[in-house]
Amino acid sequence: MEQLKTAILKQGRIVNGNILKVDRFLNHQIDPLLMQMIGQEFAKHFQNKGITKILTIESSGIAPAMMTALELHVPLVFVKKAIPSTMDNPLTTKVFSFTKNREYDLTIARAMIDDNDKILFIDDFLANGEAFKAIERLIGQTKATIDGVGIVIDKVFQKGHQYVVDKDYDLCSLALIAKLENGQIVFK
Ligand code: 5GP
Repeated sequence: MEQLKTAILKQGRIVNGNILKVDRFLNHQIDPLLMQMIGQEFAKHFQNKGITKILTIESSGIAPAMMTALELHVPLVFVKKAIPSTMDNPLTTKVFSFTKNREYDLTIARAMIDDNDKILFIDDFLANGEAFKAIERLIGQTKATIDGVGIVIDKVFQKGHQYVVDKDYDLCSLALIAKLENGQIVFK
C-alpha cells in the first residue's frame, strides 16, 4: 500500500536495530485518513470471507482494526493486557512482548466470542508471531475460527510471517519489510 510505505519512509524511525517506531501515525499519534485507507484495504481483501468479528490487541491494533470493522460492518473486540476484576468468565493466556521484552497476560471475556464466529485478526505489527500465537490459544478455547490475519507492518525477516504462512492462514500484510539495515528501511 503506497500511502503506508510513504508514511513509513517519511515518519518511521529505526530503534534498537530491529524495531520500527511509527508513533507519528500509528501507535501514539494516529493519522485518521491513513487508518481509513488501511481499513478499506483490509476490507477489500477479506470482504468475501464471511467475517463476523474483528479481533485485535490493545492498544496499537485498535485504530486499524476499528476502521476495518467499520468497512466490513462487524463488531471489533480488543483483547486486554490486564485481567479486569469485573470481567466474567475471562479466557487468558500469557504472551512475551517483543518490544517490551517481558511477559504479560492477555484476556478476553468468553461472552465476546460466539462459537460460530469467523474472526479476522488485525494487528499493527507482525514480528516473531508471539501475539498471534496467543490469539490462537485464546480462540482455541472456543469453537470460533480465525479466518484471516491482517497486518499493517509485517517484518518478514522475523519468525512470525513464516509461521502464519506455514499454517495456511489468509494473510494480508499492507507493508512488508525485508530488513532494517544501517538505518535503512528495505521493503520486500
Ligand atoms: P510479535 O508478537 O509478532 O513478536 O510482535 C507483535 C507485537 O509487538 C505488535 O503487536 C507490536 O505491538 C509489537 N511490535 C513488534 N515489532 C514492532 C516494531 O518494529 N515496532 C513497534 N512499534 N512495535 C512492534
